[in-house]
Amino acid sequence: MTAFTLSVADGIARLVLDLPGEPVNKITRTVRDELEALLTTLGRDAAVRAVVLLSGKPDTFIAGADIDEFVALRSREEAYTFVRSGQALINRIPELGKPVVAAIHGACLGGGLEAALACTYRVATEHEKTTLGLPEVQLGIIPAAGGCQRLPRLVGLRTALDMILAGKVLPARQAYRRGIVDELVHPAILERVGVDAALRLAGGWRPTRATGGLKGLLLDGNPAGRALVLSLARKQVLRKTGGHYPAPFDALDAVEHGLRHGVAVGLEREARHFADLAVGEVSRTLVGIFFATTALKKDLGGAEDVAPRAIGRLGILGAGFMGSGIGGTAVAQAGVDVRFRDTGLVAVAKGLGAAHRIVDDRLKRKRITKYEHRRMTALLSGGTDWSGFRRADLVIEAVFEDLAVKHRVFRELEAQVGEECILASNTSTIPITRIAGVLRRPERMLGMHFFSPVEKMPLLEVIVTAQTAPWVTATAVHFGRRLGKTVVVVRDETGFWVNRILAPYLNEAGRLVTEGVTIEAIDGCMKRYGFPVGPITLLDEVGLDVGLKSSHVLHEAFGDRMAPVAGLEALVRAGRLGRKTGRGFYRYDGGRRRGVDPSVRELLGVTGPAPAAEIEDRLVYAMLNEAALALDAGVVRSPRDGDIAAIFGIGFPPFRGGPLRTIDRLGATRVVDRLRRLASHYGPRYTPAPVLVRQAEQGSCFYPNT
Ligand code: NAD
Repeated sequence: MTAFTLSVADGIARLVLDLPGEPVNKITRTVRDELEALLTTLGRDAAVRAVVLLSGKPDTFIAGADIDEFVALRSREEAYTFVRSGQALINRIPELGKPVVAAIHGACLGGGLEAALACTYRVATEHEKTTLGLPEVQLGIIPAAGGCQRLPRLVGLRTALDMILAGKVLPARQAYRRGIVDELVHPAILERVGVDAALRLAGGWRPTRATGGLKGLLLDGNPAGRALVLSLARKQVLRKTGGHYPAPFDALDAVEHGLRHGVAVGLEREARHFADLAVGEVSRTLVGIFFATTALKKDLGGAEDVAPRAIGRLGILGAGFMGSGIGGTAVAQAGVDVRFRDTGLVAVAKGLGAAHRIVDDRLKRKRITKYEHRRMTALLSGGTDWSGFRRADLVIEAVFEDLAVKHRVFRELEAQVGEECILASNTSTIPITRIAGVLRRPERMLGMHFFSPVEKMPLLEVIVTAQTAPWVTATAVHFGRRLGKTVVVVRDETGFWVNRILAPYLNEAGRLVTEGVTIEAIDGCMKRYGFPVGPITLLDEVGLDVGLKSSHVLHEAFGDRMAPVAGLEALVRAGRLGRKTGRGFYRYDGGRRRGVDPSVRELLGVTGPAPAAEIEDRLVYAMLNEAALALDAGVVRSPRDGDIAAIFGIGFPPFRGGPLRTIDRLGATRVVDRLRRLASHYGPRYTPAPVLVRQAEQGSCFYPNT
């Protein structure tokens, strides 16, 4: 044996999994083969009365199946055989004829949790590293080693669906509350408690589990209740996925089928769905995104050979909307000391309040303890002077979007901080090089472009200039990652990546409105394409004033292709800035959207209604073409970075894999033809990017190897 060690004492076998040469335990071919052999031995050994399954890794129980093995599956048949043999192995745990206890510390996910569910009893540590879940749908597949059968039987249909359909991962305490875990213990006594439970089980004791009360009986425990739960779940999945992701529907079917016809038939259904999904395009795309984000986590933006420096103290200039979001997130995620500076005490107090709310929210969601909450709160401070800035390791500026203001602020700032302090701007549109022009040491300056709301949006663009020193880049990337962000390093060109590819798309949406196409048709079309919200809703959320300002800057840099829509100015002049003023394209009341505002058409001078033709092509191709142009200009370092940033920064539909992947799928020839047709109808802004024309001529693409 290489992965498992077995020891037996007092009739209890301790089976410790510690996969050699890997930081985490995962279910590989070796693990499967060894477990198979061990279960045979244990079943035959009369001296063994019960088994405890443990992990030898510091922070994982079993992180899941080996994704590399799953990706290597080439055909439906191969996938079916693969998953059926996995099921057979897991089935051997309950068929052992002896109780098995899973003693869980660290991540217990996917196939790891499915193995644990097949055990008789589950003890887990109450530790932040201990998490349990079935995240398969996030990779476009379903739990198919019995998860769709055993979880609903253990915790009831509603709880099981809630976890499986969203691919939720729960902290140990929540898993305990939901009945997935039987006992919660301190890590120091995990093994002892596991062995005790095994001894009791061997002696004939069986745990009694809660049934979920009357509600559980009505909804989980009888066919009529279950039918209702399943039909509601199906509707919810359809609403959330727009029908673009088959896995949650298949999981629902596998669960339902198993409840109707029994575990064995349910398992067969699970396997068939898995086989279809595993070799399907959606799963392949989602797995590609998973690999890309994993690779990005190890990437220091081209500065791999320098060590990132530690950031302990963070200064923030401007405690407004973005500054407070960055500060609150930094405290909650990285536990750094945060000092705000703003021009007035009222602004400082408001910013501190907003940052506190982010930390409070963590407590409310039980992500942190009361003690941690107090400690984090104590790390937030602010004022109108420079106190606290001298010792800062990094200062992020988030004052008004105005070059003169930024220049003034950075000049003052450089005189206040230490020589080794990194200076960053959160500007959305101003080239960092221009801001850095006033610095004595511009090599320590870069952009850290967060997205709003900072605590929720997963992307951070780190913008490097020609002068930025590698250690500065490495440190900013590393720090961004500590904040829980996916970090993409971007070159300092106007609009950077995200706002640049977004601008022609949003402009075109505005143009469609001015032409008379209804707002509902535009937003509806892009939601159907797979975006979380339509472009007009997005404009309202971002703020029409912010959007307009940004499009002027891009227009100046890139010319007519980025010309803003004339009508937008009228809306901004009328004080209709979007959600924040209660009126934009839509009306808002008490934070809720109340439908399209009919007076928009008047303000924009819209005449008759226009047919809703070509909305999708006009919007999507504007973004695809710009992405090709920006990549060709070297704004991002690779198609991978560009696609990930579009997915995490804009919500580009993940199942499409990003704008550049979409171009590859369509084929450059088709994209160029389409762009030319659009250009002849709507104007030269659709002139195909030279790189696309080249690709069409040469038959090449952005991702040649996949
Ligand atoms: P905001 O108006 O909410 O906040 C700006 C804050 O800066 C205000 O509290 C103001 O009092 C303060 N301030 C102004 N001059 C100052 C000075 N000299 N010293 C200290 N504080 C000063 O604006 P915001 O939306 O937070 O935007 C801030 C920056 O972030 C801008 O550069 C903007 O382009 C960028 N940004 C905004 C968003 C967004 O969605 N709002 C997204 C990404 C980036």
